[in-house]
Amino acid sequence: MSGLPGREIEQCAHVECAHQAGERVLTLATLITAARTVATLLLALLGAHQDSLPLLLWALGVYWVGDTVDGAVARLTDRETRIGATLDIMCDRLCAAVFYVGFAWYDPSMVVPVGIYLAEFMVIDMFLSLAFLAWPLSSPNYFYLVDRQLWLWNWSKPGKALNSALFAVLMVWTRNPWLAGGIATALLTLKLVSMARLSRLRPPVPEGCLQTLPASEAA
Ligand SMILES: [Zn+2]
Repeated sequence: MSGLPGREIEQCAHVECAHQAGERVLTLATLITAARTVATLLLALLGAHQDSLPLLLWALGVYWVGDTVDGAVARLTDRETRIGATLDIMCDRLCAAVFYVGFAWYDPSMVVPVGIYLAEFMVIDMFLSLAFLAWPLSSPNYFYLVDRQLWLWNWSKPGKALNSALFAVLMVWTRNPWLAGGIATALLTLKLVSMARLSRLRPPVPEGCLQTLPASEAA
């Protein structure tokens, strides 16, 4: 009977594994994700409007602290849902975009590094981060069950710090466009290598057929 769509699989209790029963949109963790995203958006927009570096940095701080808190709450409340992880990944893009665009507006010498970083973070890293959905995982934090190397580069604690903190901190601190541009380019390269490695893993595609007509008559 194996291979039939919707076949019953004996359910495990691992936190790493996706579980249909626990999936919901509204959890405490997703509410925190929503709140920190709205707060970051408002702070960064206000910062851009008032040309205020402190407000932009507050936006970045709320984004980073909120992103740590929502993940911790999801784990502590045993509500690590795939919906929550997906919304978290998407909200991170909005938070990063408003901060970085605001910062480039504030300091135009940073437009090129910010452009490189946003291409990396908003497209390639987003694709990599959502790749966990191809496997029965509850979040990219457990991607080591699929590929340890990709997890180390992208979603381990040092991997995450390298991907988000390093660029922002050095850009804000040094204001050196060459250094910031170099880091953004190195990150872009790492993400492209990750993407090549991911494609070699051949992410599984859901099997089955939703079309009721034979292929010759469909479409
Ligand atoms: Zn399991």
